[in-house]
Formats: sequence, structure tokens, C-alpha cells
Amino acid sequence: MELKFSEHAYVPFVSVENMIRLVKSIGPEKFMSELGDAIEADFKRWELFDKTPRVASHSDVGVIELMPTSDGEMYGFKYVNGHPKNTAEGLQTVTAFGLLADVYTGYPKLLTAMTLLTALRTAAMSALVGRYLAPKGSRTMAMIGNGAQSEFQCLAFKAICGIENVRLYDIDPEATEKCARNLEEAGLSVARCKTAEESMENAEIITTCTADKQHATILTDNMIGDGVHINAIGGDCPGKTEVAEAVLRRSDIFVEYPPQTRIEGDIQQLPEDYPVTELWQVMLGQSKGRTHDRQITLFDSVGFAVEDFSALKYVLEKIQGTDFYDNLDMLADPSDPRNLYGMLS
Ligand code: NAD
Repeated sequence: MELKFSEHAYVPFVSVENMIRLVKSIGPEKFMSELGDAIEADFKRWELFDKTPRVASHSDVGVIELMPTSDGEMYGFKYVNGHPKNTAEGLQTVTAFGLLADVYTGYPKLLTAMTLLTALRTAAMSALVGRYLAPKGSRTMAMIGNGAQSEFQCLAFKAICGIENVRLYDIDPEATEKCARNLEEAGLSVARCKTAEESMENAEIITTCTADKQHATILTDNMIGDGVHINAIGGDCPGKTEVAEAVLRRSDIFVEYPPQTRIEGDIQQLPEDYPVTELWQVMLGQSKGRTHDRQITLFDSVGFAVEDFSALKYVLEKIQGTDFYDNLDMLADPSDPRNLYGMLS
């Protein structure tokens, strides 16, 4: 008997190479702008989503996580790791891939590399939040931690918030030099700084994006003046923070999904019932964002599944009608659904 294989068996797969082609064809800044809009639209439908803190498997050297969510029509998840020691071994700290499926059939609709996409979506989310919380007319950002995520952060703030100047600091001057070169090419005015304090001079926005598996104190109380917006990216798993408790207590804190951020974010240093504001409510106008000039706002970013869901949907939409994907023979789908065994004969 000849078995026919249905076209449903093929799943579009976006490889790293095709992701690069896709991002280049759109342009990284436009990509992050559009992705920021997609994330905002999904955050405005927040209550529709199944939400759970990510499922994390910790080891002494890092973490491996699954991040699932669904809006009832589509289901998505991302596999992502975080291994701060990896760069010293010539490897990425963060790598990821993800899948989007149709809730009605359960069939996958997209499988994609997500390492680049994670950097793009993290930056798009940061800058989207910056648009709500940063002082109006912000033009200068301090960028502390000049590793893999850093250029994406700076360019998203350029595209979405109008940042023109970035002030870079990293404990490793080579990382700063790499970041500076990439950003100068992209048209930002760049200052290479020797200390974290120097990087904050005249900065309305302070982004911390360091990787160290410990309670690091990148921002101490005396460094932070009134009125700034802090975009804290690197404190994103238990035992890994960047901002001193005193800074948190002086700030109004904004989070993605409190049950996850209380475990993973900088607010793990605060009592469990410490007041925080959920960003979806700010986006819907149900909670206040920045209310006065002296207010310190702080986005305690940990990265939430809905952002990856938005990114997966955005990629699926953008690859339509292109050759930026391969068809992956991923599902056993015999013409007689009950004759799975027949596929072996
Ligand atoms: P990376 O290892 O490529 O870069 C981190 C940089 O931080 C390195 O250049 C390192 O020298 C620097 N650094 C370490 N300690 C420092 C200090 N005390 N002062 C200044 N610089 C310091 O890592 P990456 O891929 O850029 O990721 C950075 C962080 O962001 C990681 O902790 C990662 O887990 C986190 N992250 C968060 C999200 C999110 O959604 N919140 C998403 C992706 C990554």
C-alpha cells in the first residue's frame, strides 16, 4: 500500500541563516519597532492569555527554561538557556528556539531559531516600556554591560524612543569597544566610559544588561539621581540581581508578570507583597506610569512568554510569501490517521 503524506506534515522552519536574512530584509530597527507594536497589542489583550511563570531547571552554572503561553487560538513556547560562564568558553550566554502551534489541531505552524529573536524581542520590549515610562524627550542612555544584548537594546531605544547618544560601560573594555563600533556604524553617538558612574552622566535612561550568576550590585543608591528611568535586564533568575535594594525602594517598579518576576527579577530582594505595577495595565491606561519629573521608574525585566509569543507570530507573518524558511518534515501524518504503524511498512 502506498501511503500519502499530507502537506500538513510540513512545518516552516526558520534557521539562524534565514532569520538573519529576514531581519536584514526588514532592517533591525524597523523589525524591533514593528515587534514592539506587536508586543504592545498582545499586552493589551493580556487577560486572554494562559500565563505561568517559566519552568526553570537550574544548575550551578546556569539555567534552562521553557516559556509557554496561549491566547486560545495559538500556542507558543520558547526553550532558552542562560549560562553567564559561556562567553569565557567562546559560547553564547543565551541561546533559544521556539515553536508556535494551532490550538484547534495542535499542529505546529512554525519552528524557529530564537537566539537573535530573543535579543530583538527583549530590546523591543525594553524600548516599548521606555516609551511609556522614560522622561519625555529622553535623548541619552547609559548602557552598562556591553555583551550580546547590548547593541539591540541601544538600537531599539533609538528606533522606538528617539535615543541619540549612548554611554557605554563594561568591566571588559573589549566588549565596550565591540559595542561602540557596531553602534557608531548604526548612526548613534557613542561615549566609551571607564566607570558605571561616568556612563550615567546626563543619561535620562539607565540600562543594565550584565551577566553574572550572583547578587551583583551594578547600581548602588548614590549613583541614581531623581527622575531617571532604569531598564534592568540582567537580573532575571533566582540568585542573580543587579540593582541595590535601596534603589528599588526609591523607585516605582514595573513588571511583566508578578508571579514570575518575584521569583526571578531584582524584586526577589523585596518582600513578596511589595507593591509593583503590571505593564499591561499601564498600556491599557488602567494604572499610572510616569507621573512627575522627580519619579524614578524601574522596569524589572525578566522576559515573559507573551513577548516570545508575539515574536513568533510576527515571524510567521513576515515569512509568508518569502523563501526565508525551509519545510521541515516534522510530523508523522499518514493519510489514514489510524494507520500510523503503516508508515513503517
Ligand atoms: P553577555 O554575557 O553577552 O554580556 C554580559 C556583559 O556584562 C559582558 O560583556 C560582561 O563583561 C558584562 N559585565 C558583567 N559584570 C559586569 C559589571 N559588574 N559591570 C559591567 N559589566 C559587567 O550576556 P547577554 O546575552 O548580553 O545578556 C546579558 C544579561 O541579560 C544576562 O544576564 C541575561 O540573562 C539577561 N537577559 C535578560 C533578558 C530579559 O528578557 N530580561 C533577555 C535576554 C537576556
